Amino acid sequence: TFRAILISRDADKKQSVDVVEMSPDDLMEGDVDVAVAATTVNYKDGLAITGKSPVVRRWPMIPGVDLAGTVVRSDHPKWKAGDEVVLNGWGVGETHYGAYAGLARLKGDWLVSLPERFSARDAMAIGTAGYTAMLSVLALEDAGISPADGPAVVTGASGGVGSFAVALLARRGWDVLAVTGRTAEADYLKGLGASEIIDRAELSEPGKPLGKERWAAGIDAVGSHTLANVLASTKYHGAVAACGLAQGMDLPATVAPFILRGVSLLGIDSVMAPLEKRERAWKRLSEDLDRRMIERIATDSGFDDLIDTAREIVAGTIRGRVVATMR
Ligand code: NAP
Repeated sequence: TFRAILISRDADKKQSVDVVEMSPDDLMEGDVDVAVAATTVNYKDGLAITGKSPVVRRWPMIPGVDLAGTVVRSDHPKWKAGDEVVLNGWGVGETHYGAYAGLARLKGDWLVSLPERFSARDAMAIGTAGYTAMLSVLALEDAGISPADGPAVVTGASGGVGSFAVALLARRGWDVLAVTGRTAEADYLKGLGASEIIDRAELSEPGKPLGKERWAAGIDAVGSHTLANVLASTKYHGAVAACGLAQGMDLPATVAPFILRGVSLLGIDSVMAPLEKRERAWKRLSEDLDRRMIERIATDSGFDDLIDTAREIVAGTIRGRVVATMR
């Protein structure tokens, strides 16, 4: 048997979270069993555990959208026992039993190989947040935007996606403007490579359709007025990758940046991204992230801390990323 975190609902749809003992027979269908070595807490896991947003769509559910571990059983041609793998998304922790357990039964098609340079713990320090930040950087590059065009702005900068976005952009020579509500984290953000800190309040209120052109690129983890204002201050022919909704799901913007400045809004989805995209992102992560950056961003914890950490991430008190090793 193994321990798992289980979210359940009663007849009145009241949600509860428990640590339970489970056996492999309790798991959902899949052609690969993975012994979970490490996992992490993303904002989405916080939403699932607190029930603040309807992330969980099958009850009961083991939460956890990210894991790294070792294959212990496989009926999938690509994987054999002993292979080290990473899983991000695909509805795991939402509709399929997730990472917060000793064992996960998954589809082999969902898995990527753990890059050689990373341990399971490193891969989870990166997790969906770092992989999403990488997808965002790749989208900006694919749009033809480069550091020569001007600075890049990152919102929600001291969060998980934001921290990796700052580090990854700075690594490739971008002048990075970090937007944060926690200006006390200025030293942390400068340590990741930010050149300037912008107070979140400057962008979070309703603004004008077009503002002064301040940046050529953006990675936005926040949505709502913040994204509208980021677009309004994006330079001619610039691009913004939208990957989050920490402020809100709404986008109270106008078409002015698109039709008057040729600005592009690039949508980023990590959950259902095809395998080639994932492999490309994980390869670049292993090329671009040095150990110092991972250590600056990551805080270590264990299985027993997952529920508390999930509450803290929704409360907005987590800096960077929390990684949980299972043994
Ligand atoms: P996180 O660690 O909690 O980071 C979110 C950051 O947003 C916070 O640290 C905070 O940064 C800022 N923030 C929080 N509340 C805010 C508010 N009301 N107004 C403005 N800024 C606010 O979460 P994460 O795991 O990095 O995820 C970030 C977002 O991306 C979430 O919305 C998540 O759902 C989304 N996401 C999407 C994908 C995808 O596939 N598209 C993948 C991963 C995550 P400061 O304290 O620095 O201001």
